[in-house]
Amino acid sequence: MKLGTFEYKENQFVGVIKDNLIYPVKDLLRGNSDYEGLSDMLSIIEGGKAVLELIESSLKEKNKDVNAISISRAKMLSPIPRPKKNVFCVGRNYIEHVKEGDRANKVNIGAPKKPIFFTKTPTSVIGHEEDIMYPSCTQKLDYECELAVIIGKKCKDVKKDEVLDCIFGYTILNDVTARDLQDEHSQWFRGKTLDTFCPVGPYIVTKNEINWPLNLSMDLSVSGEQRQVMNTQDMIFDVPTIIEQLSSGMTLEPGDIIATGTGPGCGFGFDPPKFLQRGDVVEINIEGIGTLRNKVVG
Ligand code: MG
Repeated sequence: MKLGTFEYKENQFVGVIKDNLIYPVKDLLRGNSDYEGLSDMLSIIEGGKAVLELIESSLKEKNKDVNAISISRAKMLSPIPRPKKNVFCVGRNYIEHVKEGDRANKVNIGAPKKPIFFTKTPTSVIGHEEDIMYPSCTQKLDYECELAVIIGKKCKDVKKDEVLDCIFGYTILNDVTARDLQDEHSQWFRGKTLDTFCPVGPYIVTKNEINWPLNLSMDLSVSGEQRQVMNTQDMIFDVPTIIEQLSSGMTLEPGDIIATGTGPGCGFGFDPPKFLQRGDVVEINIEGIGTLRNKVVG
């Protein structure tokens, strides 16, 4: 199932996307006393398998009765417009991206021995077709194509073979980065989390639609020029390893977002560099999920 958050006639709601129509979840759950009124993505994720099954069966039954809205008429928001906590990210998780970083910075650090974790704030999150604002405090705005995993249940100390059970679904994330700030401040945080630096979307694809272990091709283009091509199988630390290590001693909760790193072809990796310019359109495609598109303005 594809689940998105939309705005239509000043109402915000979650809907299932099917054949270019949006079926509002609150309509699909109407008449079910336990879940009636559930209408935001975090509540739906927290509802777990029971809610998803109800939505699916209701979709089959009520397909014709529910007031579906054409996807072109509603504004699509980020699937979780305001995450409850920072978005977790993994840095330097594809070897060819590690190499381009070392080349660009004239260092020889090599592959990390453990996943490098950092975060992006909830205020940095924007949705599909929302604008990335070019802030005046950077001259080196860059992009990173990433698969994001959405956690489906409260979990801690998860073992690799239990990881799939903790996942709700997947979406696309652009880890927008101010390279100059990333370098100037020894922690990456500031350069990674300015306003609008975390496009996420367009919607969440539930895990049952994506084969496990993950084998998804991904690419990113800037104003029509393809810059990044990768496959999730090229990760240094795969999703089971990332979640096992992140959840070790730390609770993960429904709706937590984990960005799993990017491959080669970032702007700073080119010689000369190809940083983002005002007016550029960044488009990311991930097999089985869809397309996340954002324009750079400001
Ligand atoms: Mg990244």
